[in-house]
Amino acid sequence: MIPMVDLQRQYHEMREEIDRAIAEVLESTRFILGPNVQALESELAEYLGVTHAVTCASGTDALHLALRAADLGPGDEIITTAFTFIATAEAIRYVGAEPVFVDIDPRTFNLDPDAVAAAITPRTRAIIPVHLFGQPADMPSLSRIAEDHHLLLIEDCAQSFGAHVDGVQTGSASAFGCFSFFPSKNLGAYGDGGLITTNCAPAAERLLKLRNHGSKVRYHHDEIGYNSRLDEIQAAILRVKLKRIDAFNAGRRRAAARYAEAFSGLDLEIPHEDGIGLHVYHQYTILTDHRDAIMAALQEAEIAHAIYYPIPLHQQAAFQNREKPPPSLPVTESIASRCLSLPVFPELEDAQIDSIGDCVRAALS
Ligand SMILES: *Cc1c(COP(=O)(O)O)cnc(C)c1O
Repeated sequence: MIPMVDLQRQYHEMREEIDRAIAEVLESTRFILGPNVQALESELAEYLGVTHAVTCASGTDALHLALRAADLGPGDEIITTAFTFIATAEAIRYVGAEPVFVDIDPRTFNLDPDAVAAAITPRTRAIIPVHLFGQPADMPSLSRIAEDHHLLLIEDCAQSFGAHVDGVQTGSASAFGCFSFFPSKNLGAYGDGGLITTNCAPAAERLLKLRNHGSKVRYHHDEIGYNSRLDEIQAAILRVKLKRIDAFNAGRRRAAARYAEAFSGLDLEIPHEDGIGLHVYHQYTILTDHRDAIMAALQEAEIAHAIYYPIPLHQQAAFQNREKPPPSLPVTESIASRCLSLPVFPELEDAQIDSIGDCVRAALS
């Protein structure tokens, strides 16, 4: 059996350090907004190259809090992708704004900058690219569009921790970067967690309040906020894992390179690295016209696999609008019908990848 991710194996390799970190928090009985959260936030800011890193309870909350801090709301249009996890657009709806879904690049699955430019209206206020599957979106082009039209750029970095464009980390060169520490993400906690990055001091102040009931000074509430804090146990675990993130991402890239060899000559498209930035392979996703046959063979061989994402957001019931039919997004729809994600994690062995290669080869022959 080959799983999509092997968190148990990773835990066993760090067990002593993780167990000690957790035990120290238990012993201290400081569970909320204590020294580990504070230290983690400086370490994250340093790693990502930003002036402010504000942790929160989840990646979904990171997006929600960023949109609140940007004062986006009813009447505002926010351009984003439909080929993503629902949270990206859910957060837009939380603040009462309107997600405007546009098509993607068929090679990277990320927002197509031309489609973004074509969708701008007088009501457009922001663009939310997602660095899907760990590959940076075309930030140079999107930044230019955002600047030309005075739009906010907010990055969904839930899948891209450690990915960068010429050394510029995802989440560091826009108004806000929104990260998730969901356990299976490249930098994952042992529960839920999230992070917002910004280089704007007043925005960071606002986020610190929003995550803690609109309060900076205890029992003084400047606005309605949320209970959205990362807890000390998760922060302590993340500090142990942050030290290893480059090695984790290198392991994912090694696995992707091995897949490329194992799949050479086969009738399928392996992930394209278009040179925009460093891909950190949160997912290893192929395109195939023979998905059912490959899935049946993988199933038979007990090799985990998944379709991310089978139904793009513009076709989800939650986003249907009585006044307006859903847009037609031909590239998104085609990719959703042909994509297949395979196991990828730092500890995945070459022999396992070769056996996945053999299984797919047999299915296609
Ligand atoms: C995981 C994910 C989120 C949400 O993160 P949570 O921590 O699960 O709330 C948002 N966007 C994308 C693209 C994701 O993959």
